[in-house]
Amino acid sequence: MARRMLIAGNWKMNGLRQSLGFFNEIRDISETRTDLDILIAPPATLILSAAEIAGSVKIAGQDCHSGTSGAHTGDISAGMLKDAGASHVIVGHSERRTGHGEHNALIRTKAQAAGSAGLIPVICVGESEEERKAGKAEAVIGRQLDESLPDRVGYVIAYEPVWAIGTGMTASLDDIAAMHAFIRRQAPGGAALQILYGGSVKPRNASAILALEDVDSALVGGASLEAASFSAIIEAAPVKFSALK
Ligand code: PEP
Repeated sequence: MARRMLIAGNWKMNGLRQSLGFFNEIRDISETRTDLDILIAPPATLILSAAEIAGSVKIAGQDCHSGTSGAHTGDISAGMLKDAGASHVIVGHSERRTGHGEHNALIRTKAQAAGSAGLIPVICVGESEEERKAGKAEAVIGRQLDESLPDRVGYVIAYEPVWAIGTGMTASLDDIAAMHAFIRRQAPGGAALQILYGGSVKPRNASAILALEDVDSALVGGASLEAASFSAIIEAAPVKFSALK
């Protein structure tokens, strides 16, 4: 499959039905930028309605259970997300790893479940500030890749240094470039892999980050909540790959 840029927004636990106006506001840019895909992960309560009005914008779940159905109060299966209109699901976000004790092996089973349901898992990896300062960033990411990537399932990887998420701090361009190149070397099928950078991507820094050789895409948290800032990030994205015919 040809490489393609993906600009993804993760709304986290934000958004009520009134937030769906966002999709009208980004319609123009989503129709103009046919060289890239746009993906929004709204809260689960909005997936069905968002998918109905999203047009060419793709919809993602923010997490899924590793099973297909059963006695798991409060959980959502990958099949349910697919049924509601999602094409992707985020798994292993650092807020799930820290807030819900999720570990690599569980993330792998979730990614596997996503693939079995026909979704593309967006598998998040990232090192803590202490790990980076201790020179262990590559070792940590290497282990996360080894232990959380599924078999025989197409996936996307989001590199999100934990200390850059929601803090306004981004990794340096050199560090982002080096880690993306490392992930491309390490992950099976790396040459064709979509690798997203996430961690305080904003309109002001998006073009420099997205211009880096191995950065295909971005995962945006805070700046995806407003259509204006999310559109500005899409506008800032360089045209790297040709538009689909
Ligand atoms: C995220 O939640 O994945 C994220 C990158 O958030 P932010 O852009 O707000 O740092």
